[in-house]
Amino acid sequence: MRVVTTAQTPELDVQPTPLALLLLGREADPKSERGVECPGDLPSPSDPDLVERARAAKEKLGDKVFVLGHHYQRDEVIQFADVTGDSFKLARDAAARPEAEYIVFCGVHFMAESADILTSDDQKVVLPDLAAGCSMADMATAEQVAECWDVLTEAGVAEQVVPVSYMNSSADIKAFTGKHGGTICTSSNAKRALDWAFEQGEPSTTKVLFLPDQHLGRNTAVRDMGMSLDDCVVYNPHKPNGGLTAEQLRAAKMILWRGHCSVHGRFSLDSVNDVRARIPGVNVLVHPECKHEVVAAADYVGSTEYIIKALEAAPTGSKWAIGTELNLVRRLANRFAPEGKEIVFLDKTVCFCSTMNRIDLPHLVWALESLAEGNLVNRIEVDKETEAFAKLALERMLALP
Ligand code: SF4
Repeated sequence: MRVVTTAQTPELDVQPTPLALLLLGREADPKSERGVECPGDLPSPSDPDLVERARAAKEKLGDKVFVLGHHYQRDEVIQFADVTGDSFKLARDAAARPEAEYIVFCGVHFMAESADILTSDDQKVVLPDLAAGCSMADMATAEQVAECWDVLTEAGVAEQVVPVSYMNSSADIKAFTGKHGGTICTSSNAKRALDWAFEQGEPSTTKVLFLPDQHLGRNTAVRDMGMSLDDCVVYNPHKPNGGLTAEQLRAAKMILWRGHCSVHGRFSLDSVNDVRARIPGVNVLVHPECKHEVVAAADYVGSTEYIIKALEAAPTGSKWAIGTELNLVRRLANRFAPEGKEIVFLDKTVCFCSTMNRIDLPHLVWALESLAEGNLVNRIEVDKETEAFAKLALERMLALP
């Protein structure tokens, strides 16, 4: 048994957001991930005909509709997806289907925005429940990031800073990134994005502002690029000047935005040590959105696509504890059980993405039936200026070596 203790990531003293995420669906705030109430009459979750209704509406729409299913979606929704994947793959898949007038995105708000940015003007992106937001994306608002840039300017470092924003951010943040010469990254290409960013200026003085997931930024810098934890500082948007002195900003290589994924942030070093004690010989495989001490204690680290491929390639009889969203882990456990691969969830407690789970069968049926009747509902549309700058940042990512 391998028990690992490492330096703990600075504790998150969680601050309340201006509007708690669980008020989703009650207050109108379409500029954020918090969403608004669904305007229509949803079918009852107990309606025994939901599956048949979804099938009929989809059939009626034919090639006009293309349903995207994120890996973390429920099985009841995934069964209707024309394609599954992570958010970037899904947005590109939608762009590759120009004949589909309606893109129904079973995912969260920022993903639907990215699909709107990457698809043609004729394609309309629909999010079955507008309240399906992402708590991480909501941790960096356009106003907060503009204020941060002012702080960096005052400290005299803004000109040396290249923003790198994770795909899991709002269109506004992607546009900010494009406007300031930065790029977007995914959990698969974060190292390449950081390598590129540090090549944009004098290597000894260039800094990266990494938004909004501090853990992906820290894990990539320290684990994959050999930086030290001391090279990273955390900018807290809830504190004056981000809680940092000008001297700290000048000394840092990585300025990490104080955001995190509420799902992956739950895994702890105890979860790793506990599963190793329970299952001798288990391989611990975690997503890089997990805390640094969890990533440091794991055997393998990678994106959802990496996790799936690692399990596909795993030998019969191998045992795996996976640190990512529970819907995906359960699906993988069922898929690989007949091959004799034992796959368990890393934590003992349930860990769904609650906002992703808002897309359920009643919302999907409602969206598909509305479209089949000619009513365009829950369209996600990014304004042209934001789209142009966000696209610039996305194109820089596509051009990464
Ligand atoms: S899993 Fe985390 S990053 Fe992904 S949508 Fe949910 S809260 Fe956001």
